[in-house]
Amino acid sequence: MTFNLKIEKAEFVRAGHRTEDFVRDGRPEFAFVGRSNVGKSSLLNRLLGRRGLARISQTPGRTRAINYFLINDRVYFVDLPGYGYAKAGRADRAEWAALVDGYLRCEVPKRTVLLLIDGKVGATPLDQQAYRYLTEMEVATVIVATKIDQVKRGKRQAQLEDIRRTLGAAEEAQILPVSAESGDGIPALWSALDSRG
Ligand code: GDP
Repeated sequence: MTFNLKIEKAEFVRAGHRTEDFVRDGRPEFAFVGRSNVGKSSLLNRLLGRRGLARISQTPGRTRAINYFLINDRVYFVDLPGYGYAKAGRADRAEWAALVDGYLRCEVPKRTVLLLIDGKVGATPLDQQAYRYLTEMEVATVIVATKIDQVKRGKRQAQLEDIRRTLGAAEEAQILPVSAESGDGIPALWSALDSRG
């Protein structure tokens, strides 16, 4: 067990902007990525506690960086910039792609990407592209359906299946429903991380 469902220590260690900045010290990494507004900050805050992250998100220039958090001195949580925000132009998209592509091509011993999909909205065409890209890169990917509190309990299974179908994910691909607001699914997410750490 890597975390034992418990954060003893979470510290912000680095904002990476280019390949030279990326951390390569052999520790496993969990990278969080998703459409802007998908609930990534809320989920990270839920997982890590508010202190460290609140400070980071207020620091100008940190948003288009790859932010590393060292957890329990054992693994990194890596906060990737969100994609598809409303005002993104061609240059923004190219910058995002270059940054994330550089990060994923930087080889580390163990990396799992958590692809966040808005549980209420479902998978968008940009989410499809992101998933296809991760699959092509052969990155170990866990799909996380956020804001699941906004989907009625009786409809959640169907919504998860819809996300799976839209992304073209295999039957055995893991899709974890979570709510940063209610805490639903958070223990299951920790277990999934534990089994992969
Ligand atoms: P980010 O842009 O991906 O970092 O998204 P944020 O964490 O800033 O969240 C975007 C919006 O979704 C905010 O208004 C949040 O309050 C809301 N949100 C995030 N997580 C949840 C959740 O689990 N449930 C609900 N109902 N709303 C959420």
